[in-house]
Amino acid sequence: MRFPLSFPTMLSSVWRRLLHSPYLPVIFFPCTANPNSKFHSFARKPISSDNPNDTSYYSSLLQSCINRKSIEPGKQLHAHILLLGLGSDPILGTKLVNLYSVCNSLPYAHLLFDKIPKGNIFLWNVLIRGYAWNGPHEVALSLYYQILDYGLKPDNFTFPFVLKACSALSAIREGRDIHEHVVQTGWESDVFVGAALVDMYAKCGCVNNAREVFDRISSRDVVLWNSMIAAYSQNSHPAEALSLCREMARIGFRPTTATLVTVISASSDVAALPQGREIHGFSWRHGFESQDKVKTALIDMYAKSGWVRVARVLFERLAEKRVISWNAMISGYGMHGHASKALSLFEEMKAAAQPDHITFVGVLSACSHGGLIDEGWCYFNSMVTHYSIKPAVQHYTCMVDLLGHSGRLDEAYDLIMGMAMNPDSGIWGSLLNSCKIHGNVELGEKALQRLIDLEPEDAGNYVILSNIYAQAGKWEGVADVRKLMKERGLKKSIACSWIEVKNKVHAFLAGDVSHPQSDGIYAELERLRGLVKEAGYVPDTGPVFHDVDNDEKMNMVWSHSERLAIVFGLINTAPGTRLLVTKNLRVCDDCHTAIKFISKIVDREIIVRDVNRYHHFRHGACSCGDYW
Ligand code: ZN
Ligand code: ZN
Repeated sequence: MRFPLSFPTMLSSVWRRLLHSPYLPVIFFPCTANPNSKFHSFARKPISSDNPNDTSYYSSLLQSCINRKSIEPGKQLHAHILLLGLGSDPILGTKLVNLYSVCNSLPYAHLLFDKIPKGNIFLWNVLIRGYAWNGPHEVALSLYYQILDYGLKPDNFTFPFVLKACSALSAIREGRDIHEHVVQTGWESDVFVGAALVDMYAKCGCVNNAREVFDRISSRDVVLWNSMIAAYSQNSHPAEALSLCREMARIGFRPTTATLVTVISASSDVAALPQGREIHGFSWRHGFESQDKVKTALIDMYAKSGWVRVARVLFERLAEKRVISWNAMISGYGMHGHASKALSLFEEMKAAAQPDHITFVGVLSACSHGGLIDEGWCYFNSMVTHYSIKPAVQHYTCMVDLLGHSGRLDEAYDLIMGMAMNPDSGIWGSLLNSCKIHGNVELGEKALQRLIDLEPEDAGNYVILSNIYAQAGKWEGVADVRKLMKERGLKKSIACSWIEVKNKVHAFLAGDVSHPQSDGIYAELERLRGLVKEAGYVPDTGPVFHDVDNDEKMNMVWSHSERLAIVFGLINTAPGTRLLVTKNLRVCDDCHTAIKFISKIVDREIIVRDVNRYHHFRHGACSCGDYW
């Protein structure tokens, strides 16, 4: 790969000329320098190239610029070094490359690099590190292969840098190649190299390879442990992350706050609630109780897994409420449809902290879930005028959701068309969903067209449009969409629901008979069927191609996965216990109606988190107000 050899714009023409000439204008030593600074005394020092200490003297000055990332004094030193004729000194040259590299003047660092002898690996490492940190990452990789061409041996600094570049590029092929070189050069058991390999494999989604690397290193340090735990967390293996945390603590290492935060974030799902609770206990036992960062991660976790009250208790116990903690709590209320609680917390927050763009995502989503149009517009506008926050895609999504759900589809469409940035699939998906709720065929078609451009492989979008056609009795449209899906080889995902009972997660597919308690579940389901019918439930006899779970045929509608999970919860928990179910797809209309009846008959609060939102069913009603 060719390196783009353009000069950075920061270099003035004087400076540029100087670099290629032996002359040095005096302007590089301004008299206004701080009289106490090292550089001032340096400037007054008589300049003499025959001073035997010059190299080490300048080397230490350059090092202090590197440590402070001070580019301006560094440039002055560079000019001076050139004047003294020390420009070709390899030690000073390497330091200068290092200086420009840490100060993010990579093009210039590279230019200098090209001019000096390349026999030492440290010089290469310095430049590779610059590219690994700041990109373009491809250059780091290309330099790495040049090292090999030069016949130099990469060392335990080269590998972590170049692997970092591989992580950034998700370049698994090159990553594996470099792993082989690590083994060949004998650095396999080095903890720094190991941690970099673990990180590279994790970022490329190869968590098993990461574990193999980890297992091969016998003397592990805390960085390596944390890398492996983060690898599990990033790849949605919260149970493994937690068990590694325990093992780490057992042998006397303490996880860092950052590690715990990643593990907690990975547990932010109903399906991972048992791990989430355990990690909560773990953090308390290991002295993280006073760590607000850990507590904020827990607030977020409890809110996301449906325990918004527990989240609030933790929130109240924070020593210092930072913006991030307010945000976690406000969005927690928002996502559960507790709009008024979210908004009153926001009012409280205004007096204590400065709201940021994430706060407004929480506030607007609360308005959206609460159907508060006037408030929504008001907050959207005040975000721009009072807080000078430019609306981002997420803010628009909340507004489109709010307007769309309330039936103001044209207003939502106009808002999308007036956006300063390109609308993403989330926005069009939200509009499409609203078109389904309000039966708007024309706009639904427009939205799907955009969605097909943005995510052609997502079957869910096609199904929603098909439902819109079906609702409007446009059977031709239904057939067209089906044909299109068939042509493109698209299949819908299989619906699945989870429920956690007594610290164990149970998963159910539609019509699932594989659970050991299956007989009991179906018996209770039958009993409830009779009761809800008596209470006035009429099965949805609407369009056949009706919902995203259409694969679960209409005659199987009664054994949809969420109902199995709910009934399992009912027969395995004490009366009055709240049930929490997660579903990987949208809840269908018929299930939504049936669960409302069930919540009344059994007098339970049933929470279903589907792919779009949370539904809190209670006393025969749902928090979503039947719009979702
Ligand atoms: Zn259903
Ligand atoms: Zn609902």
